[in-house]
Amino acid sequence: MAIVAFGSGNEFEVQVPLVIVGAGACGLVAALAAKQFGIDAVVLERDAMPRGSTSMSQGFIPAAGTRFQEERGVKDSAELMAEDIQRKNGYQADPDIVRALSEASAGVVEWLADVHGVPFDLVEGFLYPGHRRTRMHATPRRTGEELMGSLLNAVEAAGIDVLTEARVVDLHVDDAGRVLGVNLERPDGSRESIGCDALILACNGYGGNPELVERHLPALKDALYYGHEGNQGDALLWGEGMGASLKDLGACQGHGSLAMPHQTLITWAVMMRGGVQVNSEGRRFSNEHGGYSEQAAKVLAQPGGIAWNLFDRRIHQAALEFEDYRNAHIAGAVRTFDTLEDMAIGLGLPQEALLDTFAEMHALAESGEADGFGRCFSLEDLLSAPYHAIKVTGALFHTQGGLEVTSQARVLRQDGSVFPNLFAAGGAARGVSGSGDSGYLSGNGLLSAVVLGAIAGREAARELGCDSAA
Ligand SMILES: Cc1cc2nc3c(=O)[nH]c(=O)nc-3n(C[C@H](O)[C@H](O)[C@H](O)COP(=O)(O)OP(=O)(O)OC[C@H]3O[C@@H](n4cnc5c(N)ncnc54)[C@H](O)[C@@H]3O)c2cc1C
Repeated sequence: MAIVAFGSGNEFEVQVPLVIVGAGACGLVAALAAKQFGIDAVVLERDAMPRGSTSMSQGFIPAAGTRFQEERGVKDSAELMAEDIQRKNGYQADPDIVRALSEASAGVVEWLADVHGVPFDLVEGFLYPGHRRTRMHATPRRTGEELMGSLLNAVEAAGIDVLTEARVVDLHVDDAGRVLGVNLERPDGSRESIGCDALILACNGYGGNPELVERHLPALKDALYYGHEGNQGDALLWGEGMGASLKDLGACQGHGSLAMPHQTLITWAVMMRGGVQVNSEGRRFSNEHGGYSEQAAKVLAQPGGIAWNLFDRRIHQAALEFEDYRNAHIAGAVRTFDTLEDMAIGLGLPQEALLDTFAEMHALAESGEADGFGRCFSLEDLLSAPYHAIKVTGALFHTQGGLEVTSQARVLRQDGSVFPNLFAAGGAARGVSGSGDSGYLSGNGLLSAVVLGAIAGREAARELGCDSAA
């Protein structure tokens, strides 16, 4: 990864108005937004088939005040959503960006649904930790793969060029910090160059780069990385080279519920509907309603770095709505027991400790008191036979720190000024999750990718002289 000074003889083979690096949700949505404003972008993607972390996600996008919410009688507002995001991150994120994303979220989700045919509906039945309203929007199968498929269809229908097997390796930047173009490398090692009038970095964070993870996230250096391997921190490295302001590099989304050894995401809805996690000693060790991101480190701190998700038939039936869960079930990750005693024997847990754990939950539900970790239990959510169990571990899903941007997705220098024609969004940009692993509110990842991505596309188009939608 290099920054190349532009000098005589550096003529580009092709010149386009806008280059976008990365064809995940961020890059594709940015391209659609620029197109709406009359700008044809070229999206450069290192993989042969665009997938990104987006295709590995559940594809849940938070948005407040949508018609999908209104149809289901959910009263929500951008103010409430912004407050939920800030409460979770300890008020560490840039309030202007949080407000801009919350305010734009409904419009972007409805635009993708109505203009580009992304089949969103509202995910109902439970709330993720920290959200006070039902505001997750997802496609019917609840998979990022389906979201990516819909976005790729939209991009194709809009006639946007996505160049695959095109890994951007260098940026050409002049003395004033203006990006003039990029070099890309093909799988056979050959190189091409493209000149551009504006550049959007949509190439996500550094989760796939063990060296950068060790430097910025030492507590998760041995955690399994469950995001896309192409996220090598290129935007971060270019930003460093250009003197950009880099913020919240210790921020990330972990997840405390990855089925082992199947490596399938088990939806946190299992916990929010009443499930619990115990360690190999049969004891609970945390408030499972605190947040699944910080739960990764808590699970990894247990003996063997594993925990058991325990739940019952009611929760199992509800979780079958999620394709990932169905896949885990088919793969044999979900085990079933008629009694707690059978479960203790089947999982190799100390029987007395497990019975104590369940007795304590019953007592807490009856008394209405919170447990020592701060979780409250209700009588209607208490687990009853038959029981289910899944062995899980903690994993790193993606990083949340990156290039500091304005609420127009313009990349900032260390002195607070903006680069003339450089934009970043999604995992490439500083997110809204504070500075550690506990500030991640569910949906912050795709919020930044999709909503800030749309803003980046629109603002890049404005930079190129387009003031109104085509
Ligand atoms: C298992 C899992 C579940 C998740 N679930 C959710 C969820 O439900 N809701 C939510 O909000 N978030 C979720 N997330 C986070 C979410 O997936 C990410 O925040 C989001 O996908 C980031 O989008 P992006 O477009 O920035 O990056 P990506 O989708 O990763 O796309 C970046 C693209 O850039 C390409 N690229 C990288 N470097 C270069 C280069 N030098 N040249 C060319 N191309 C390059 C990559 O190959 C990749 O295709 C989840 C993450 C994981 C791993």
